[in-house]
Amino acid sequence: MKLILVRPRGFCAGVNRAVQMLARTCAESDSAPIYVLHEIVHNSWVVEDFRRRGVRFVESLDEIPEGATVLFSAHGVSPSVRREAARRGLAAIDATCPLVASLHRQACRFAEDGWHIFLIGHKGHQEVIGTLGEAPRQMTLVSSADDAKTLTLPESADPDRLTYLTQTTLSEEGWREIVAALRARFPALTDPPGAGVCFATRNRQEAVRRVAPEADALLVVGSANSSNSRRLAELGEMSGTRSLLINGPDDIDPAQFSPEMTLLMTAGASAPEEVFQLCVEKLARHFPVEIEERAVCEENVRFNC
Ligand code: SF4
Repeated sequence: MKLILVRPRGFCAGVNRAVQMLARTCAESDSAPIYVLHEIVHNSWVVEDFRRRGVRFVESLDEIPEGATVLFSAHGVSPSVRREAARRGLAAIDATCPLVASLHRQACRFAEDGWHIFLIGHKGHQEVIGTLGEAPRQMTLVSSADDAKTLTLPESADPDRLTYLTQTTLSEEGWREIVAALRARFPALTDPPGAGVCFATRNRQEAVRRVAPEADALLVVGSANSSNSRRLAELGEMSGTRSLLINGPDDIDPAQFSPEMTLLMTAGASAPEEVFQLCVEKLARHFPVEIEERAVCEENVRFNC
Protein backbone atom coordinates (compact mmCIF):
# COMPACT_ATOMS: atom_id res chain seq x y z
CA MET A 1 0.00 0.00 0.00
CA LYS A 2 1.27 3.44 -0.89
CA LEU A 3 0.50 6.23 1.59
CA ILE A 4 0.92 9.80 0.36
CA LEU A 5 1.08 12.01 3.47
CA VAL A 6 0.37 15.44 2.13
CA ARG A 7 1.48 18.78 3.57
CA PRO A 8 0.38 21.23 4.79
CA ARG A 9 -1.88 19.25 7.09
CA GLY A 10 -3.06 19.35 10.68
CA PHE A 11 -2.75 22.22 13.15
CA CYS A 12 -2.86 25.68 11.60
CA ALA A 13 -1.31 28.72 13.26
CA GLY A 14 -4.61 29.79 14.85
CA VAL A 15 -5.30 26.38 16.38
CA ASN A 16 -1.73 26.07 17.57
CA ARG A 17 -1.99 29.44 19.29
CA ALA A 18 -5.29 28.61 21.00
CA VAL A 19 -4.03 25.22 22.22
CA GLN A 20 -0.82 26.77 23.52
CA MET A 21 -2.73 29.53 25.31
CA LEU A 22 -4.91 26.99 27.09
CA ALA A 23 -1.92 24.78 27.94
CA ARG A 24 -0.08 27.79 29.39
CA THR A 25 -3.13 28.87 31.38
CA CYS A 26 -3.38 25.34 32.83
CA ALA A 27 0.32 25.31 33.73
CA GLU A 28 0.15 28.70 35.43
CA SER A 29 -3.09 28.18 37.31
CA ASP A 30 -3.44 27.23 40.94
CA SER A 31 -6.03 24.60 41.70
CA ALA A 32 -8.96 26.78 40.53
CA PRO A 33 -10.72 25.28 37.52
CA ILE A 34 -10.30 26.87 34.11
CA TYR A 35 -13.33 27.23 31.90
CA VAL A 36 -13.48 27.32 28.11
CA LEU A 37 -16.55 28.67 26.36
CA HIS A 38 -17.28 26.02 23.69
CA GLU A 39 -14.62 23.61 22.42
CA ILE A 40 -11.22 25.32 22.30
CA VAL A 41 -10.89 23.93 18.75
CA HIS A 42 -13.17 21.47 16.97
CA ASN A 43 -11.31 18.26 17.76
CA SER A 44 -12.40 15.68 20.30
CA TRP A 45 -8.83 14.48 21.05
CA VAL A 46 -7.72 17.98 21.95
CA VAL A 47 -10.81 18.60 24.05
CA GLU A 48 -10.54 15.27 25.88
CA ASP A 49 -6.87 15.84 26.60
CA PHE A 50 -7.65 19.17 28.28
CA ARG A 51 -10.68 17.72 30.06
CA ARG A 52 -8.39 15.12 31.65
CA ARG A 53 -6.23 18.02 32.90
CA GLY A 54 -9.27 19.47 34.64
CA VAL A 55 -10.43 22.05 32.09
CA ARG A 56 -14.21 22.54 32.04
CA PHE A 57 -15.85 23.16 28.67
CA VAL A 58 -19.16 25.01 28.88
CA GLU A 59 -21.74 26.23 26.38
CA SER A 60 -22.87 29.28 28.33
CA LEU A 61 -21.28 31.85 30.64
CA ASP A 62 -24.07 31.06 33.13
CA GLU A 63 -22.25 27.81 33.91
CA ILE A 64 -19.16 29.68 35.14
CA PRO A 65 -18.88 30.97 38.71
CA GLU A 66 -18.25 34.71 39.07
CA GLY A 67 -14.59 35.65 39.12
CA ALA A 68 -13.39 32.44 37.42
CA THR A 69 -11.01 32.28 34.45
CA VAL A 70 -12.55 31.68 31.03
CA LEU A 71 -10.92 31.23 27.64
CA PHE A 72 -12.75 32.19 24.47
CA SER A 73 -12.13 29.57 21.80
CA ALA A 74 -10.26 30.00 18.50
CA HIS A 75 -13.60 30.57 16.72
CA GLY A 76 -14.23 33.89 18.48
CA VAL A 77 -17.21 35.31 20.34
CA SER A 78 -19.62 38.18 19.81
CA PRO A 79 -19.22 41.51 21.67
CA SER A 80 -22.26 40.67 23.82
CA VAL A 81 -20.40 37.63 25.20
CA ARG A 82 -17.38 39.79 26.05
CA ARG A 83 -19.64 42.31 27.80
CA GLU A 84 -21.40 39.58 29.76
CA ALA A 85 -18.07 38.04 30.83
CA ALA A 86 -16.93 41.45 32.09
CA ARG A 87 -20.24 41.99 33.90
CA ARG A 88 -19.79 38.67 35.71
CA GLY A 89 -16.25 39.60 36.73
CA LEU A 90 -14.69 36.74 34.77
CA ALA A 91 -10.99 36.81 33.95
CA ALA A 92 -11.29 36.39 30.18
CA ILE A 93 -8.43 35.13 28.03
CA ASP A 94 -9.06 35.54 24.33
CA ALA A 95 -7.81 32.65 22.18
CA THR A 96 -9.69 33.88 19.09
CA CYS A 97 -7.59 33.26 15.97
CA PRO A 98 -6.13 36.60 14.82
CA LEU A 99 -7.65 35.99 11.39
CA VAL A 100 -11.12 35.61 12.89
CA ALA A 101 -10.51 38.76 14.96
CA SER A 102 -9.56 40.54 11.73
CA LEU A 103 -12.84 39.36 10.16
CA HIS A 104 -14.70 40.91 13.11
CA ARG A 105 -12.88 44.21 12.61
CA GLN A 106 -13.72 44.16 8.90
CA ALA A 107 -17.40 43.60 9.74
CA CYS A 108 -17.35 46.55 12.17
CA ARG A 109 -15.67 48.87 9.65
CA PHE A 110 -18.14 48.02 6.89
CA ALA A 111 -21.08 48.42 9.24
CA GLU A 112 -19.82 51.79 10.51
CA ASP A 113 -19.50 52.97 6.91
CA GLY A 114 -23.10 52.04 6.16
CA TRP A 115 -22.58 48.82 4.20
CA HIS A 116 -24.85 45.81 4.37
CA ILE A 117 -22.81 42.62 4.69
CA PHE A 118 -23.69 39.14 3.48
CA LEU A 119 -21.91 36.76 5.82
CA ILE A 120 -21.26 33.57 3.87
CA GLY A 121 -21.04 30.70 6.34
CA HIS A 122 -22.71 27.83 8.12
CA LYS A 123 -25.66 28.59 10.35
CA GLY A 124 -24.90 27.74 13.98
CA HIS A 125 -21.10 27.57 13.59
CA GLN A 126 -19.39 29.36 16.49
CA GLU A 127 -17.33 31.56 14.19
CA VAL A 128 -20.46 32.67 12.33
CA ILE A 129 -22.38 33.38 15.54
CA GLY A 130 -19.50 35.49 16.85
CA THR A 131 -19.04 37.47 13.62
CA LEU A 132 -22.77 38.11 13.19
CA GLY A 133 -22.79 39.56 16.69
CA GLU A 134 -20.60 42.49 15.56
CA ALA A 135 -23.35 44.12 13.50
CA PRO A 136 -26.46 41.95 13.55
CA ARG A 137 -28.75 44.51 11.92
CA GLN A 138 -26.38 45.05 9.02
CA MET A 139 -25.54 41.43 8.29
CA THR A 140 -27.44 38.68 6.52
CA LEU A 141 -26.27 35.10 6.81
CA VAL A 142 -26.06 33.28 3.49
CA SER A 143 -25.34 29.55 3.73
CA SER A 144 -25.96 28.39 0.17
CA ALA A 145 -26.50 29.58 -3.38
CA ASP A 146 -30.20 28.85 -2.84
CA ASP A 147 -30.19 31.23 0.14
CA ALA A 148 -28.64 33.86 -2.11
CA LYS A 149 -31.45 33.41 -4.64
CA THR A 150 -34.26 33.73 -2.11
CA LEU A 151 -33.05 36.06 0.64
CA THR A 152 -34.82 39.35 1.30
CA LEU A 153 -32.69 42.43 1.72
CA PRO A 154 -33.67 44.43 4.82
CA GLU A 155 -35.34 47.77 4.02
CA SER A 156 -32.51 49.56 5.78
CA ALA A 157 -29.88 48.14 3.36
CA ASP A 158 -28.54 50.43 0.63
CA PRO A 159 -28.50 48.33 -2.59
CA ASP A 160 -25.41 50.27 -3.73
CA ARG A 161 -23.45 49.44 -0.58
CA LEU A 162 -23.48 45.68 -0.45
CA THR A 163 -20.48 43.54 0.35
CA TYR A 164 -19.74 40.12 1.79
CA LEU A 165 -17.44 38.34 4.22
CA THR A 166 -16.78 34.62 4.48
CA GLN A 167 -16.37 32.15 7.31
CA THR A 168 -12.69 31.19 7.28
CA THR A 169 -13.16 27.45 6.79
CA LEU A 170 -15.48 27.13 3.79
CA SER A 171 -14.64 25.34 0.57
CA GLU A 172 -13.09 27.55 -2.10
CA GLU A 173 -15.63 26.38 -4.67
CA GLY A 174 -18.54 26.80 -2.22
CA TRP A 175 -18.04 30.44 -1.27
CA ARG A 176 -17.30 31.46 -4.86
CA GLU A 177 -20.54 29.84 -6.03
CA ILE A 178 -22.48 31.77 -3.37
CA VAL A 179 -20.82 35.07 -4.31
CA ALA A 180 -21.73 34.43 -7.97
CA ALA A 181 -25.36 33.81 -6.96
CA LEU A 182 -25.38 36.99 -4.86
CA ARG A 183 -23.86 39.02 -7.68
CA ALA A 184 -26.47 37.73 -10.13
CA ARG A 185 -29.12 39.30 -7.88
CA PHE A 186 -27.17 42.29 -6.64
CA PRO A 187 -24.84 43.47 -9.43
CA ALA A 188 -23.45 46.24 -7.22
CA LEU A 189 -22.02 43.68 -4.79
CA THR A 190 -18.50 44.83 -3.88
CA ASP A 191 -15.63 42.43 -3.14
CA PRO A 192 -14.03 43.11 0.24
CA PRO A 193 -10.23 43.35 0.46
CA GLY A 194 -8.74 39.87 0.89
CA ALA A 195 -12.02 38.08 0.18
CA GLY A 196 -12.19 34.36 0.86
CA VAL A 197 -11.17 31.66 3.28
CA CYS A 198 -8.01 31.79 5.39
CA PHE A 199 -4.58 30.71 4.16
CA ALA A 200 -4.63 27.47 6.16
CA THR A 201 -7.97 26.36 4.76
CA ARG A 202 -6.87 27.30 1.25
CA ASN A 203 -3.53 25.47 1.53
CA ARG A 204 -5.03 22.23 2.90
CA GLN A 205 -7.67 22.22 0.20
CA GLU A 206 -5.14 22.94 -2.54
CA ALA A 207 -3.00 20.00 -1.38
CA VAL A 208 -5.98 17.64 -1.64
CA ARG A 209 -7.11 19.14 -4.96
CA ARG A 210 -3.69 18.53 -6.51
CA VAL A 211 -2.94 15.05 -5.20
CA ALA A 212 -6.37 13.38 -4.95
CA PRO A 213 -6.37 12.32 -8.64
CA GLU A 214 -3.35 10.07 -7.91
CA ALA A 215 -5.09 8.23 -5.07
CA ASP A 216 -7.67 5.46 -4.82
CA ALA A 217 -8.99 6.91 -1.59
CA LEU A 218 -8.55 9.92 0.69
CA LEU A 219 -8.40 9.70 4.48
CA VAL A 220 -8.99 12.98 6.30
CA VAL A 221 -8.14 12.91 10.00
CA GLY A 222 -10.44 15.29 11.83
CA SER A 223 -13.55 15.44 13.98
CA ALA A 224 -17.03 15.42 12.49
CA ASN A 225 -17.78 18.93 13.80
CA SER A 226 -14.65 20.39 12.20
CA SER A 227 -15.79 22.50 9.26
CA ASN A 228 -12.45 22.57 7.47
CA SER A 229 -11.99 18.78 7.88
CA ARG A 230 -15.42 18.11 6.39
CA ARG A 231 -14.65 20.38 3.47
CA LEU A 232 -11.48 18.37 2.74
CA ALA A 233 -13.45 15.12 2.57
CA GLU A 234 -16.07 16.77 0.34
CA LEU A 235 -13.34 18.08 -1.93
CA GLY A 236 -11.91 14.56 -2.30
CA GLU A 237 -15.34 13.26 -3.30
CA MET A 238 -15.75 16.12 -5.78
CA SER A 239 -12.44 15.05 -7.34
CA GLY A 240 -13.88 11.56 -7.78
CA THR A 241 -11.79 10.01 -4.99
CA ARG A 242 -13.52 7.95 -2.31
CA SER A 243 -13.07 10.01 0.86
CA LEU A 244 -13.41 9.17 4.52
CA LEU A 245 -13.38 11.54 7.48
CA ILE A 246 -11.94 9.70 10.48
CA ASN A 247 -11.60 10.95 14.03
CA GLY A 248 -8.72 8.58 14.79
CA PRO A 249 -7.31 5.10 14.26
CA ASP A 250 -10.39 3.35 15.65
CA ASP A 251 -12.34 4.60 12.65
CA ILE A 252 -10.05 2.77 10.23
CA ASP A 253 -11.54 -0.54 9.13
CA PRO A 254 -8.75 -2.44 7.30
CA ALA A 255 -11.42 -4.42 5.44
CA GLN A 256 -12.19 -1.24 3.48
CA PHE A 257 -8.70 -1.16 1.97
CA SER A 258 -6.36 -3.47 0.06
CA PRO A 259 -2.55 -3.73 -0.25
CA GLU A 260 -2.41 -2.49 -3.86
CA MET A 261 -4.18 0.80 -3.05
CA THR A 262 -2.71 4.30 -2.99
CA LEU A 263 -4.13 6.32 -0.09
CA LEU A 264 -3.84 10.07 0.22
CA MET A 265 -3.82 11.15 3.86
CA THR A 266 -4.31 14.60 5.32
CA ALA A 267 -5.58 16.17 8.54
CA GLY A 268 -7.89 19.10 9.22
CA ALA A 269 -6.56 22.27 10.81
CA SER A 270 -7.61 21.19 14.30
CA ALA A 271 -6.35 17.57 14.17
CA PRO A 272 -3.15 16.81 16.14
CA GLU A 273 -0.20 15.29 14.26
CA GLU A 274 0.05 12.55 16.95
CA VAL A 275 -3.43 11.31 16.01
CA PHE A 276 -2.54 11.45 12.33
CA GLN A 277 0.55 9.31 13.02
CA LEU A 278 -1.54 6.80 15.02
CA CYS A 279 -3.68 6.39 11.90
CA VAL A 280 -0.60 5.82 9.74
CA GLU A 281 0.69 3.26 12.27
CA LYS A 282 -2.60 1.38 12.24
CA LEU A 283 -2.49 1.03 8.45
CA ALA A 284 1.18 -0.06 8.69
CA ARG A 285 0.19 -2.81 11.12
CA HIS A 286 -2.27 -4.26 8.61
CA PHE A 287 -0.51 -3.65 5.28
CA PRO A 288 3.03 -3.41 3.96
CA VAL A 289 3.27 0.35 3.38
CA GLU A 290 5.45 2.63 1.31
CA ILE A 291 5.26 6.14 2.74
CA GLU A 292 5.76 9.31 0.73
CA GLU A 293 5.69 12.75 2.39
CA ARG A 294 4.45 15.22 -0.25
CA ALA A 295 4.73 18.96 0.44
CA VAL A 296 2.43 20.85 -1.92
CA CYS A 297 3.27 24.26 -0.49
CA GLU A 298 5.17 25.75 2.41
CA GLU A 299 3.29 27.14 5.39
CA ASN A 300 5.41 29.08 7.82
CA VAL A 301 2.81 31.29 9.51
CA ARG A 302 3.07 31.56 13.32
CA PHE A 303 0.88 33.62 15.62
CA ASN A 304 2.23 34.89 18.93
CA CYS A 305 0.31 33.86 22.02
S1 SF4 B 1 -8.43 27.67 10.11
FE1 SF4 B 1 -7.67 29.74 9.62
S2 SF4 B 1 -9.04 31.14 10.72
FE2 SF4 B 1 -9.34 29.09 11.60
S3 SF4 B 1 -7.94 29.00 13.34
FE3 SF4 B 1 -6.82 28.20 11.57
S4 SF4 B 1 -5.70 29.96 10.70
FE4 SF4 B 1 -7.31 30.75 12.06
